[in-house]
Amino acid sequence: MISFNRTPCTGNEIKYIEEVIDSHQLCGDGKFTKKCNQWMEERFHAQKVLLTTSGSTALDMALLLCDLNPGDEVILPSYTFSSTANAAILAGAKLVFVDIRPDTMNIDETKIEDAITDKTKVIIVMHYAGVSCEMDTIMDIARRHNLLVVEDAAQGVMAEYKGKALGTIGDFGCYSFHETKNYSMGEGGAIVINNAKYNEKAEILREKGTDRSKFLRGQIDKYTWIDFGDSYLPGELNAAYLWAQLEQADEINNDRLHTWNCYNEAFQDLKDRLELPYIPEECTHNAHMYYVKLKDIEDRTRFIQYLKEKDILSVFHYVPLHSAPAGLKYGRFHGEDVYTTKESERLVRLPIYYQLTEEDRNKVIQAVRSYFE
Ligand SMILES: *Cc1c(COP(=O)(O)O)cnc(C)c1O
Repeated sequence: MISFNRTPCTGNEIKYIEEVIDSHQLCGDGKFTKKCNQWMEERFHAQKVLLTTSGSTALDMALLLCDLNPGDEVILPSYTFSSTANAAILAGAKLVFVDIRPDTMNIDETKIEDAITDKTKVIIVMHYAGVSCEMDTIMDIARRHNLLVVEDAAQGVMAEYKGKALGTIGDFGCYSFHETKNYSMGEGGAIVINNAKYNEKAEILREKGTDRSKFLRGQIDKYTWIDFGDSYLPGELNAAYLWAQLEQADEINNDRLHTWNCYNEAFQDLKDRLELPYIPEECTHNAHMYYVKLKDIEDRTRFIQYLKEKDILSVFHYVPLHSAPAGLKYGRFHGEDVYTTKESERLVRLPIYYQLTEEDRNKVIQAVRSYFE
């Protein structure tokens, strides 16, 4: 059976984990957490990066830092993971969903402005499959209406828009290092803070409401409960695992891109039966996903079943949030759902992961091709 995903392992994980055990310091913000934070700050030219316990809690932090009031509205796509919306609910906001673009499956930047009311405070964009949203347009709308922008870049680590790392363009960026993502620590994530005025507040929020981070840097001689907070820092064992991935980030990225490109070339002549991913010129993607779109939901069900009979696992995702029970409870869809539901029903993801073998890749290609013969 060719699995759909396999969590990456580059070889140094055990060594680094042993190092943590030997150091007797397993709690957060130790050596490996610092190495990961610093690496991302340098590599992505980010003002500040802090590891978190998940991509979901990175989003929670970002939305809490936006300092919303009850009744404030957050604009977001409906075609996304539940965490994107949960973060806004935690911060007390109402959800306003807008439609996606059918070509990238990202929020349709031309539909955002019409959804803005005097209650709107934040736009959350989600870079689907590591392919950037149209950020110049979105940032321009946000600045003109005095809104904050949170990038759900859970899938976008190492991807770029006009040469800028995803996550570093809005006010906050959120990465995920869940085992299904390109770089993994089992469960984990990071928040990217692009405006230094939030640094201190973010540290306090992440450290149970205390200024312990300052204390650990020797800037104060005792730490105090300053504000509301929670515990968002991961343990060192997880950070050690992630460090082994980040060290090999280019190797992992190139390997995934190679698989992605092989799929994409192999399916070019099926284009009238199968819609292939579209990468806008401004975007450098990270091969987080290779998806194709079938004719409709029946065609997709047949396709997934066909691949399964050939021992290949393919999956679909995101029943649109606005039609889910929680979406009905907490949000509304602004405008018409032209593409969100229709396109979500056609999409299916093929196996892609670090070190997917050439043999397995060719099996997938053959199976997809034979479905159409
Ligand atoms: C994976 C993912 C998340 C959540 O990340 P976790 O680390 O699993 O909490 C949020 N948003 C999107 C778009 C994701 O793909």
